[in-house]
Amino acid sequence: MTDVASDLESLLEARVRGQVLLPPDPGYDAARMPFNAMAAGRPIAIVRPVDTRDVAATIRAAAEADLGIGVRCGGHSVAGHSTPEGGLLIDLSGWRGADVDPVGQTVDALGGSRLMDLDAATAAFGFAVPTGTFVDTGITGLTLSGGISYLVSSEGFACDALVGAEVVTASGEVVDVDEAHEPALLWALRGGGGNFGVVTRLRYRLTPLPTIYGGHLRYRGDGLVDLLERVFALDREAPDELSLQALTWRTEADGVGATVMVAWRGDAESGDRLLAGLLDHPALYERDLRPMSWLQIQAQNTPLPFGFRNYWKGHFVRETPAALAEALVDAASRVTGSDFALAELMHGKAHRIAAETAAFGGRHAVANVTAVAIWSDPAEDADHVAWARSTAASVEPWSLRGGGYLNYSEVDQSAARIAAAFDPATFARLRDVKRRFDPDNRFRFNANIAPAG
Ligand SMILES: Cc1cc2nc3c(=O)[nH]c(=O)nc-3n(C[C@H](O)[C@H](O)[C@H](O)COP(=O)(O)OP(=O)(O)OC[C@H]3O[C@@H](n4cnc5c(N)ncnc54)[C@H](O)[C@@H]3O)c2cc1C
Repeated sequence: MTDVASDLESLLEARVRGQVLLPPDPGYDAARMPFNAMAAGRPIAIVRPVDTRDVAATIRAAAEADLGIGVRCGGHSVAGHSTPEGGLLIDLSGWRGADVDPVGQTVDALGGSRLMDLDAATAAFGFAVPTGTFVDTGITGLTLSGGISYLVSSEGFACDALVGAEVVTASGEVVDVDEAHEPALLWALRGGGGNFGVVTRLRYRLTPLPTIYGGHLRYRGDGLVDLLERVFALDREAPDELSLQALTWRTEADGVGATVMVAWRGDAESGDRLLAGLLDHPALYERDLRPMSWLQIQAQNTPLPFGFRNYWKGHFVRETPAALAEALVDAASRVTGSDFALAELMHGKAHRIAAETAAFGGRHAVANVTAVAIWSDPAEDADHVAWARSTAASVEPWSLRGGGYLNYSEVDQSAARIAAAFDPATFARLRDVKRRFDPDNRFRFNANIAPAG
């Protein structure tokens, strides 16, 4: 152990009551394990605080040692932000659980909770929160940068449901945030990412538990461009209660194909009527749509294991023309392995919520289009990265502002792409909020917003 690490260990052990892990402690490697093996950073130390006071003590110790801080909730950062190379990692992944207030129709969740913790707690009272579609994802990372779920068009983004939080800022101060207290910080937490402190508790507004008619439709062969055009057209005209996602892919067995993920907040009969143009498409070869509980639709996607290599890159798009459908089918024709292109379509309430209520920059996009490359052999890095980059470039003509979804960031995302995720006035305001709550940019392992000035 170096002198610096040994001094840090003594400092943390004197100040912090939770577990402190430094290399080569047993458990250090497991604790830093990233979702994305392309971003396996080595934090100088990992701290698992026992309570909010301990979080504050850890932040103060990091400031004293002049270290940057990374924060981990569910550890799913595709860009590898929660495995900070050379920084101090505050690991809240054990802080799981949620308390429902059925009368006030809110839920308070600990800052390390996963979607499944929130879903299970709220469903028991007949409620849900619009978050995301993989149950093991962390709620905090997801919410702070947006949050796209099967309820996006009927409820908005996860950050829109965030009505309060407890935040430990860079000075170690514990701040209770809601519409009445520190509204500027609440606004920044709704889309500005993990830039403003450690969020130890999140309060969400609840929505009545939806019943869903949903599942997937699979297509292959000729006519995929036409199919995607039908999907895009349907989403443009659909009621808020319909959510659609389209994936294009290629396999040895089926060649180029497309999957449409469907979630209709209604019954089977009205759902089939609405989806008629997709159900009678000649390229359809597999149909699996059924009435589902909210917990069933949330559990549809099998969690992806940690440790694969990932490079995701995309754009929020302002329109979905036929040429975009062609680009997505073309991307699939160039796929090797299990890479795929994903279009998450958004309309309805996602667009109607007043833009000034949240810093989130993708509100007026009609889709989040992302090239998702996932593989295991480092020898294939160049091919998969090239595929994702070229696919993202092919979508760029319809980009809202040249930026993508900050929750799906590529590992080498540029500062310009981060800025382009927001409109310029919002980005400037975020920099002001950052200056107030983290003037030294202590929280810099994230889609970083530099303090103003
Ligand atoms: C398999 C998979 C499926 C996904 N599905 C969806 C989806 O359906 N919808 C969607 O919108 N997104 C989805 N995502 C993207 C997801 O939203 C991001 O990966 C997000 O960062 C995950 O949050 P996390 O807490 O697990 O991440 P972490 O890696 O733990 O954290 C990521 C970043 O969030 C910030 N952060 C986390 N916790 C805190 C905290 N307590 N206080 C302050 N800052 C914090 C930090 O900046 C941190 O670097 C998916 C990602 C993966 C890998």
